[in-house]
Amino acid sequence: MRKSIVAGNWKMNGSRSLVNEFFTLMDGVNKQAVEVVICPPACFISDFQGVDFALGGQTMSELDNGAHTGDISAEMLLELGCRYVIVGHSERREDHGETNDMVAAKAAKALAAGLTPIICVGESLQTREAGELESFIAAQLDALTATLSASQLAQAVIAYEPIWAIGTGKTASPEQAQQVHAFIRSHLAAFDSNAAASLPLLYGGSVNSANAQELFAQTDIDGGLIGGASLKVDEFRKVCQAA
Ligand code: PEP
Repeated sequence: MRKSIVAGNWKMNGSRSLVNEFFTLMDGVNKQAVEVVICPPACFISDFQGVDFALGGQTMSELDNGAHTGDISAEMLLELGCRYVIVGHSERREDHGETNDMVAAKAAKALAAGLTPIICVGESLQTREAGELESFIAAQLDALTATLSASQLAQAVIAYEPIWAIGTGKTASPEQAQQVHAFIRSHLAAFDSNAAASLPLLYGGSVNSANAQELFAQTDIDGGLIGGASLKVDEFRKVCQAA
């Protein structure tokens, strides 16, 4: 039985007053049924002290420490109380030139430090329309399996986030999402069948309270990575309840 996870990625949004609103997030959410994670901007993580859900970073360095202005390490995230960290979000890949190998190195560093990486993969519309979806995602996954051991992979989380569905209001249909999730699981099974079977696979891309239930009901979808809809506590609570 795989764990259901709903993670909210605030991106570069939010404020201390929004943090305060989220102290009631878990009212009416079955904590046994779903692991809820909030990934706020790093500067707000310590304002969440005492909450009854998990916290995550939005990115981290693959390095330990040193002269890397603006970066944050796995140890720092742990010290702030994080249990998760998003790595390889398409916005990081696009804005900061993160390559598949860099993302794999970050995931390995996170796991070695004791954080669970939520590793993002996903194609652009152009790639999908060119019929290259599977080879594109396979390359993203192959960089992970070249770096992580099977037991490390089993402790990670993968989020399938089609770039064309992020922040656009366009959601992959449940069938489209399920098809790619099944592909991800079968591709990883060639590396390690136990890890592939036990790894939570999240869907991300314009998930909201109206479409979450149908998406999360798919066989290989174990929850979601949520952007815009994670910024409103009532809306995000409903998404968590759908998992
Ligand atoms: C995301 O950025 O991870 C995301 C899925 O955003 P949105 O839900 O706003 O599409």
